Amino acid sequence: MRPILELSIDDLRHWLTEQGQPAYRAAQIREWLFSKRASSFEEMTNLPQGLRRALAEEFVVATSRIALHRKAADGTEKLLLALHDDQRIECVLIREHARRTICISTQVGCAMGCVFCASGLDGVVRNLSQGEIIEQMLHLQRLLPADERLSNIVVMGMGEPLANLPALLPALREATSPAGLGIGARKITVSTVGLPPAMDRLTAENCQYHLAVSLHAPDDELRRELVPVSRNIPLDTVLSAADRFFDSNRRRLTFEYVLLGGLNDQPAHAERLVALLRRRMALLNVIPYNPVAGLPYQTPTAKAQERFLRILEQGGINVQVRTRKGDHIDAACGQLRRSQSLAVPVAPAE
Ligand code: SAH
Repeated sequence: MRPILELSIDDLRHWLTEQGQPAYRAAQIREWLFSKRASSFEEMTNLPQGLRRALAEEFVVATSRIALHRKAADGTEKLLLALHDDQRIECVLIREHARRTICISTQVGCAMGCVFCASGLDGVVRNLSQGEIIEQMLHLQRLLPADERLSNIVVMGMGEPLANLPALLPALREATSPAGLGIGARKITVSTVGLPPAMDRLTAENCQYHLAVSLHAPDDELRRELVPVSRNIPLDTVLSAADRFFDSNRRRLTFEYVLLGGLNDQPAHAERLVALLRRRMALLNVIPYNPVAGLPYQTPTAKAQERFLRILEQGGINVQVRTRKGDHIDAACGQLRRSQSLAVPVAPAE
């Protein structure tokens, strides 16, 4: 059985033609999958019975199932998905004013090893496929009432998105296609630990996505400690690759900076950050550390956060603090992981 979401619309048309079916059925099938939120071929009532049967014999609609569904008081919902090989990933729906943002994963685990992040604690198992990335979008869309649509996507879940571009790019094409989810490319943010060759590949795609680059330190020495993959990737090569992306697509860059108490939150760090970013059209997203069970890091005090922000603002940096969403259900940045072994017993809602 093949996952139907692994097929492009052309693949689907080709299969339909082989079945002696008109090619326009492809658009109908996709409308059921993406807009009408169907979870079986049986529901696709404008298709002839015989075609529905043939589809069900050849394809599956979903390869993953919801293993756990948690809701936080702030409207954030998190799904733990069990994949066909029993691997687990997480994805999140965030409600904020009229926005319905989803945060999706691209890998089972993560190989980057950022010392403060839950997703990479056990390394990486494998890349997700295009279909598995799209399935997260569809599972999360089904959590919304029929009259609400997904508005934004942040590729900030488990994994390093730029280490899985061959699956991510086609998945995002389905997300932005009017025949898919119809989400504007400018409503999509891809976050990277900073892999220059892959950043250049994204630049070459000429896409309108936003790029967010995880900095976490204003100099190579500290960054190597916090973001081990950066051992062989100097900060200036990451910043140059970000500049090339900006020069090409003109979308304002975002830089992310996890604020770790006593480690990278001192005035000297803020001053060096000002020097690095001052001449760039960029937004600095400061993320106060979200606690991860078993890790020794501290969320800086409100006073330390304010001191840090003030220096950046006075230096003319456009800075924003990322407010914590869904942390009681471990759905905040850096808290997504492969197992629930450390989670408290599940309550349906908080
Ligand atoms: N691999 C991508 C996506 C990671 S998730 C990247 O590195 O950018 C998005 C952001 O959350 C990243 O900036 C990541 O470093 C940050 N993050 C990871 N763990 C965190 C934690 N415990 N608290 C706050 N932010 C965290």
